Amino acid sequence: MQKTTLFTVLFVFVCTVVGSAQDWRSGIPWEKPVLVTPGVKPSDPPSDAIILFNGKDMSAWDKEWSIDNGELLCVPGKGDITTKRKFGSVQLHIEFATPAEVSDSETGQGRGNSGVFFGSYELQVLDSYENETYHDGQCASIYKQVPPLVNVCRKPGEWQSYDVIFNRPELKIENDVVYVIRPGYITVFQNGVLVINHHQLLGTTFFHRPPVYEAHEPKLPIRLQDHGNNIRFRNIWVREIPDTNVRPEPTREPYHMQ
Ligand code: MG
Repeated sequence: MQKTTLFTVLFVFVCTVVGSAQDWRSGIPWEKPVLVTPGVKPSDPPSDAIILFNGKDMSAWDKEWSIDNGELLCVPGKGDITTKRKFGSVQLHIEFATPAEVSDSETGQGRGNSGVFFGSYELQVLDSYENETYHDGQCASIYKQVPPLVNVCRKPGEWQSYDVIFNRPELKIENDVVYVIRPGYITVFQNGVLVINHHQLLGTTFFHRPPVYEAHEPKLPIRLQDHGNNIRFRNIWVREIPDTNVRPEPTREPYHMQ
């Protein structure tokens, strides 16, 4: 059989099979997805976002840093700031810039250090542009747990973004023992590039010892770290999301549409 003839026969066969297939349904009574209006740009908050900072005030936070030209400026010595509201699983957008001026004495962890904490779990903020440090402590690492897949840092002083999906852990505490029912997971895009791909959190991101899960409430504040550097932030928003992609039980057997 010639090649073109064989192709024609195969094409007709596939069309016949597909054409006779019936529409299959899972039997799960999915709820209708809620309508959300997206922002004009992907970095803009969608209609269901909770605004944590939009350049105007710090009303979402427990204390003041400095607002300069619509930007939130970490004031070294003032300490970390935490959101008044507590969150479980979230999508978070945040933009940051490490100081444009870098002195020779600022190296490693001492250059442009801050952090975005989802409760006990730190997504590192650091100036990692031509600045070496331990890999699981560089910018976009989950601190001392996993380095970013790539180093996609912009130059000092330039604005960068994180888009994060944080799925909270589910913990059970009995007699002071912490049982991990479901570990936490985190996915991070830095400047639009995937840098942390569904990392299974190993526990609290300590500085001084290995990670281990500690007892905590299901919902915790989001925290920005004062690590002694003048980091700027802007356009911070968050969306509360379901803990997992829960797949409800079917209310009827899977079926073909008649
Ligand atoms: Mg840090």
